Amino acid sequence: MVAFEQLWAAWRSEYVSGIATQSLPDNSTCVFCAIAASTLSPAETFTVWRGKTCFAVLNAFPYASGHLLVMPLRHVGELEKLTQDEAVELWQATTAAVVALKSAYGPDGVNLGVNLGRAAGAGLPDHVHIHVLPRWVGDTNFMTTVAGIRVMPEALEASWKRLTNAWPSDLTKFEE
Ligand SMILES: [Zn+2]
Repeated sequence: MVAFEQLWAAWRSEYVSGIATQSLPDNSTCVFCAIAASTLSPAETFTVWRGKTCFAVLNAFPYASGHLLVMPLRHVGELEKLTQDEAVELWQATTAAVVALKSAYGPDGVNLGVNLGRAAGAGLPDHVHIHVLPRWVGDTNFMTTVAGIRVMPEALEASWKRLTNAWPSDLTKFEE
């Protein structure tokens, strides 16, 4: 299916905040670690949430407004090398990201995506991250029509505010 292939191709283009890149610590080549270690404010690095072992950040070049990346704070490239605490919090945070996206954007659906290894399409294969992406009925058709042109109806600052406000306060209990 063409639309799915295009979506996957977009996920391969994983670039995150240029602001964070400028503040890369010495010897660090991982932009995710740079964001995690950054002394900039969450608004400046587009960090929507930070927990004990994981955090969630906006993709600075989103496929859709609200495109989130959820990942461990620790630099680890293989899913099976996550600690039990990291694995649990990663999934809680991914669930929270889905809840926040539903609340902030009211999408028709949500895509979760994980690329493990460069051959699988990971642009940054050494630091595990989960893509969480709101979808609407017909949006793939629209993307096909515009043929690769990224449509960004909302600035990252606006997405950050919406998702920060919508992020659940308790990741262990989502039901009201
Ligand atoms: Zn890293």
